[in-house]
Amino acid sequence: MDTSLSNRYQNLLNRLPEHICLIAVSKTFPADDIQALYDLGQRHFGENYIQEWQEKVFRLPESIIWHIIGDIQSNKTRVVAENAHWVHTLAREKIAERLSQQRPENKPPIEVCVEVNISGETQKHGLAVGEVFEFCQYIKTLPQLNLRGLMAVPSDADEITVRQQMQKMRELFVSLNNQGLKLDTLSMGMSGDWQWAVEYGATHIRIGSALFGQRNYAQK
Ligand SMILES: *Cc1c(COP(=O)(O)O)cnc(C)c1O
Repeated sequence: MDTSLSNRYQNLLNRLPEHICLIAVSKTFPADDIQALYDLGQRHFGENYIQEWQEKVFRLPESIIWHIIGDIQSNKTRVVAENAHWVHTLAREKIAERLSQQRPENKPPIEVCVEVNISGETQKHGLAVGEVFEFCQYIKTLPQLNLRGLMAVPSDADEITVRQQMQKMRELFVSLNNQGLKLDTLSMGMSGDWQWAVEYGATHIRIGSALFGQRNYAQK
């Protein structure tokens, strides 16, 4: 057992308000690390790369709750529909439609969030703020998806900039609820900024390196 993993986990739990759902982001880390955190009681895990996730998932306990937090290509929707519990990154109708169609009927709908490109950076995934309401209305027509809320990855920037983006996410979340959408999830906050995210109403934080350590993409 890696005692530093256990220490980092306990530390984080001690600082985390009880109502916040911690998603342990395990991309690039081996199934053994996931199992170690599972053995400490962690149940929610996040993965970005579908292929990598598939190589790990069958060796791990079935009671893990899997959150897909990376972009999904259309040729990967089936494995996601069959094995994931949550998708945080919906932003394209075609992907949403495929996920709903391919979700097995004996499983509950996939819990989904719409990804918002809150920084407006062109290389980032997600919808512009002005597109979100209409897209949410569309998601609600799909029987095997359950719209839960919004997700964002703010800029890797200074505190003021990141806080402004988180504030905008909060305002969008409130405004959509005022327009009649029943959203209960704001997925926002990573290792470097989760405490601010909690201030702006995040309900789910996605923590990778602060738990598992530095990622080494080359060794993946
Ligand atoms: C990798 C990743 C995280 C975790 O990032 P850390 O900074 O390591 O905590 C969270 N969200 C998304 C979308 C990611 O891709």
